[in-house]
Amino acid sequence: MNESGMVVVGAGEAGVRAALELRSLGWDGEITLIGNEGLLPYERPKLSKELLIAVEEPSPAAVVSEAQLAEERIDWVSGDAVRRIDREGHRVELASGREIPYMRLLLATGAKPRKLEIAGDGAGDLIYLRRYEDAVRLRESLRNGSRVVVIGGGFIGLEVAASAIQRGCAVTLLEAGRRLLARGVPEAIAKVVEQEHRKQGVRIVTGASLERIDKGAGEFKLRLADGTVIPCDIVIAGIGAVPETALAEKSGLDIDNGIRVNEKLQTSDPNIFAAGDCCSFPHVLFGNHRIRLEAWRNAVDQGMHAAGNMLGSEKPYGVVPWFWSDQYDLTLQVAGLTDRAVTIVERNMGEEGQIYFHLNEEGTVVAVSGIGSGGSLAKHIRIGEMLVEKQAKPAAEALADHTVRLKQLMR
Ligand code: NAP
Repeated sequence: MNESGMVVVGAGEAGVRAALELRSLGWDGEITLIGNEGLLPYERPKLSKELLIAVEEPSPAAVVSEAQLAEERIDWVSGDAVRRIDREGHRVELASGREIPYMRLLLATGAKPRKLEIAGDGAGDLIYLRRYEDAVRLRESLRNGSRVVVIGGGFIGLEVAASAIQRGCAVTLLEAGRRLLARGVPEAIAKVVEQEHRKQGVRIVTGASLERIDKGAGEFKLRLADGTVIPCDIVIAGIGAVPETALAEKSGLDIDNGIRVNEKLQTSDPNIFAAGDCCSFPHVLFGNHRIRLEAWRNAVDQGMHAAGNMLGSEKPYGVVPWFWSDQYDLTLQVAGLTDRAVTIVERNMGEEGQIYFHLNEEGTVVAVSGIGSGGSLAKHIRIGEMLVEKQAKPAAEALADHTVRLKQLMR
């Protein structure tokens, strides 16, 4: 049996970074990267933003070129899917019938959109956004004057709403919860986001209880529990994502809100690792609290980290979680885990925007969040991130005082 190869399942951000990193760390044997989309690995963050508002015909923003894959001797298998992992025999079996042996395997299978379960014959025609082809379809539908309903006031919902408004659509956003961005974003920032959307013309309904979606004569009709009926041309649902675990489950690996991995990103089979949206892991910076992150940078960092551990480095993964969202001229950023905090300290940055420090019971900075126009707050958030990384415990008064330099608080 040939056991020489490294096999990566999933050619998204985590999978590609892992494959490239394996080579740059000096692995000289075979590397196989398997993706089922048939496109060169591309940047997903653009799908809900730049791609939707692009005037020119869009194309996927490739993360890596075919030439680079060839140069790095990465065997890129596209448009094929792994159907089975033979853990005893150390090989994967593809839908095409091909079999590939592995020494170490990485599962970077990502996540898929949560589907809305709702009554009515319009439910089957909703648009979900995950893949390039979804974004192209959505872009074509967002015509000037189209009536658009967005279900979900999370990242996809809000970024798509902003893009749709910029394309001249009439947009209504329905959020089931009491407020927007309830997952990981402080209320004060969500309020700034909400105000901007309203200013730009988005009609926002929070606490919306959707009862059914009907379709007839090319028009959708959405009925809410309070009797309101909203007619529209397009309905987009961004109501969360679920980790892609089917292959791991079928292979008997432990599952726990995603593929369960240890701090070294190793699954319950020591020869199989997982990285990115698909896995849950204990975070060493937060008392080994088990989390699953759906964020671009986590995919990048975990993919690269997993590569090192596949080659035997045995290092725990401890990068500070970070994500951003661009909507209109606003950029919001969150580093760390806001839900580990009991206190929020505000630092008013004047024209630049607002920053919030999130502290736990011991006064340790567990997260920093901020909102401002464009990249105005980037450097402050970066230093806040270092405070999280160093598990700093600065005085709350110093954090609140914008005249105190953040770097000073690192000591
Ligand atoms: P999300 O951020 O979890 O937001 C989903 C929102 O939909 C939540 O506010 C949720 O409210 C709401 N919701 C759930 N069921 C609903 C219903 N029946 N009616 C109305 N609202 C409902 O997920 P997402 O926006 O769908 O994003 C999916 C994935 O793409 C995530 O992995 C996300 O991180 C990623 N993404 C990230 C970015 C970024 O980081 N900038 C941008 C785009 C996409 P409750 O919280 O009350 O359930």
